[in-house]
Amino acid sequence: MQSTTDPHILRHLGIHRVLEPQGALPQPAWKLDNTPVALATETLINVQKLHIDSASFTQIANVCERDTERMKIHMMDIVKTRGKMHNPVTGSGGVLIGTVEQLDETFVEKHHLTRGDTIVSLTSLSWLPLYLNDIKHIYLGRSEVEVEGKAILFRSNPLTKLPGDLPQSLVVAALDVAGAPSRVAALARQGQRVTVLGAGGTAGLLTLCALRQHLGSNGLIIAIEYSEQALLDIASLGVADILIQADATRPLELLEQVRKNYVGHDYLADLTINVVNVPNTEFATILLTRPDGRILFFSMATSFTVAALGAEGMGRQVEMHIGNGYMPDHGEVALQLLRDNPTLCAIFVKRFGS
Ligand code: NAP
Repeated sequence: MQSTTDPHILRHLGIHRVLEPQGALPQPAWKLDNTPVALATETLINVQKLHIDSASFTQIANVCERDTERMKIHMMDIVKTRGKMHNPVTGSGGVLIGTVEQLDETFVEKHHLTRGDTIVSLTSLSWLPLYLNDIKHIYLGRSEVEVEGKAILFRSNPLTKLPGDLPQSLVVAALDVAGAPSRVAALARQGQRVTVLGAGGTAGLLTLCALRQHLGSNGLIIAIEYSEQALLDIASLGVADILIQADATRPLELLEQVRKNYVGHDYLADLTINVVNVPNTEFATILLTRPDGRILFFSMATSFTVAALGAEGMGRQVEMHIGNGYMPDHGEVALQLLRDNPTLCAIFVKRFGS
């Protein structure tokens, strides 16, 4: 059996780039060596865009009062300090889009890549050494940042080639959150009642469509969303059975609203999927789920401590899953949903451009 300290495994994970603290893996490390030159076993990417994780982008936008010049300075500072785009407040990253400049031979075989291919990293930016020369533009409405820079990918890092049949900005937005719709097949059962919190966001809309395909016509989908415009988008999809405009950070009011909208029925969900982008929604999520139900906390703003202690205090044995950005389908489920559903695709074009 291979030892976990096998130097090859460590190198494939990128541990040789960790500067602080020594011995940490690249994601939890405080600082990486972001020298933009590929060493043996590394692949060098010419980076054109970052799609920042929504929890991170929202936090940076708020702290900089949505002033894009201040946001540029803030983001450059994070990358300079940490050698990666790893928001120290939210702990999250996002994905990058770029072209292959220098290629490790194992990557060629594993991903069928050639120099010049355009790729999307399916590894969080919080894992990857990133060097930025410049931030050219920040698109406030779509968590997107146009940059000039280089990134390093390690052998363990998943990625995908940019498909030619969908606009680039749609693909990047969908792939950033593709873990949520991908997990629907594993978690949802035909005929179940499923609640989605933050249902009008990028992950939310994809998840609703995946649920409808998976649950069939017997299943019931309750969509909870804060923004009025996003609720209109959900309605236009025609996949949710009950739509509720509510604030998931106010659990008791939310519970009352759900109860009112679902008079005479058991409103507790068999499965609740949390795809909100703000903190303090753990209680609402648990309260809306059956005591023996399941929860997928996909939101990066989720606190493990609050969720675990919350369920304990409520005396609920609910099974809680943590959303993970890796999916064996490499985002194909999410991209296929965009291909299959013209309304979903049109909403994405409206939000992210074409
Ligand atoms: P998004 O597009 O910003 O969607 C979040 C949605 O939640 C928005 O529609 C937002 O409405 C809504 N919302 C905000 N506050 C709310 C509240 N108090 N009550 C109810 N709804 C509220 O974000 P996304 O890109 O879909 O990402 C969703 C989450 O997944 C984020 O937390 C992101 O960090 C996380 N994520 C996780 C992974 C993983 O591997 N687990 C990977 C990528 C992303 P407004 O538009 O009005 O704000």
